[in-house]
Amino acid sequence: MRETSAHHWINNDYVAGSGPRTPVINPATGETIAEFAHATAHEIDKAIEASTRAQREWWAMSALDRAAAMHRVADRMVEMSRTTGEVLTREMGKPFRESNWEGGASASSFRYYAEIARNEQGRVAGPAIAGQLHMVVKEPLGTIVSIVPFNFPILLFGWQAAAALAAGNAVIVKPSELTPMTLLTLMRAFDHLPAGLVQVVTGGAEVGQMLVAHEHTHGVAFTGSVPAAQAVARAASQRFKPALIEASGNDAFIVMPSAPMDAAVRGAAFAAFLNCGQVCTSAERFYVHESVYDEFVSGLAAMAKSLRVGNGLDKIDVGPMASVRERDRVEKIVNRAVEQGANVVTGGRRPAALSAGAFFEPTVLEVSHDMDIMHGECFGPLAPVCKVRDLDEAIARANDSQLGLGANIYTEDLAEAFRAVNEIETGIVWVNTPLNDNDAIPFGGRKFTGAGRELGAEGLEQFRRSKMVMIAPTAQPDPEWFPYPDSDAFNA
Ligand code: NAD
Repeated sequence: MRETSAHHWINNDYVAGSGPRTPVINPATGETIAEFAHATAHEIDKAIEASTRAQREWWAMSALDRAAAMHRVADRMVEMSRTTGEVLTREMGKPFRESNWEGGASASSFRYYAEIARNEQGRVAGPAIAGQLHMVVKEPLGTIVSIVPFNFPILLFGWQAAAALAAGNAVIVKPSELTPMTLLTLMRAFDHLPAGLVQVVTGGAEVGQMLVAHEHTHGVAFTGSVPAAQAVARAASQRFKPALIEASGNDAFIVMPSAPMDAAVRGAAFAAFLNCGQVCTSAERFYVHESVYDEFVSGLAAMAKSLRVGNGLDKIDVGPMASVRERDRVEKIVNRAVEQGANVVTGGRRPAALSAGAFFEPTVLEVSHDMDIMHGECFGPLAPVCKVRDLDEAIARANDSQLGLGANIYTEDLAEAFRAVNEIETGIVWVNTPLNDNDAIPFGGRKFTGAGRELGAEGLEQFRRSKMVMIAPTAQPDPEWFPYPDSDAFNA
């Protein structure tokens, strides 16, 4: 990481940062593996000057050439995915299989947007004046500020950047303080694009704020927690910049008696413990029908116990949490639940054999809906399970939330599935297929989870503006103009 440590990626080059530095710590070992620099106002100005130039060059290219360049990005991301995956596992801990997967999954969104962006760039309307051409032309916004969290840095940056670039914009990304090296390493996949089109400046919230508030950035794509999202949305609103906001989730997971129990239990374990529970769409609240509750709890506890916890570069299923601070936060949530009467079925502790890292055991708890653990985002390896009488109660509980990202139901009763799809107040509903996504359909949430959508045609629209264009074939005077005829006067 010599090339990337304490550097930014500005104008297609690694540039040593001149601001204060913060260590990057491997959460599996506690070792410092690199540093990141906090970008200064001068460095941010330099990056924005470069992006302004590059965006003009990019938009002047043909749509076909832009598409070809984006396919090349996707190829490079796939070629580099083992390298970026190793860096990602070292800086935030997730199993290498998951880190390696991100490169290909992110590349897939570049391929999708490479093609749909050249499919259309506006539309022609029936003319309001005979013989004229009336249309809406879609234009890029300019420079997009991308602010991403630590949990899926390659994937989530890719979702934002692929749509923004395809729409003709430049992108400056501010990575999470926990995962700056991954995106810096990834930048080699973009070095064939106009210099400055995609750049990385590192730092904390202050750097994100400077980018969002800057006079010469034009749109924002944010993924992260609710308080940070609110701060970003407030700053963006000062200059009326469009802001795509993807914030927290606390997804419900409903299990009904018609579901095959083995699939429901394995799906639940994956939804709760993938990436050590640090997925915006992690299943955070389980509502299980009383007739299958005991079987589900014992099955999920057995699955949780069987998961191998350890360093993400080893043969394991679950890595550490991304930092000691995150681990301590999750530990407090468990302690509070126990104080409120929760029963810890398995887990609930730091594994004794892994004291150097930020590890926490996959945990299954029996809870009631009124406990705090069911009313926030845990963002850790916790599966709190609550017994419900019927589907009415499950849906009511699922909807009793300030957040509205996703929801899962396991059922093979079609009527129950339809009810869940229609009645759950979230942006995503998964029936028997937890946590999957598709580049071609929009991803996002309701309520405090945010505003706007990523992926699909909707995702492209986030980064384009409409221009109304009217063309008369010849320059003729219009009968509507002055002078007005006297016969139209009130007292004619
Ligand atoms: P975070 O909010 O702490 O940080 C996210 C990013 O925002 C980081 O780059 C951070 O430096 C920056 N930031 C923080 N405060 C800021 C401010 N005031 N102004 C500008 N930038 C600021 O989130 P995190 O801990 O990295 O990630 C976890 C959160 O992200 C969870 O809540 C999770 O649900 C959410 N998330 C949501 C989605 C989604 O699609 N809805 C996807 C992944 C993660």
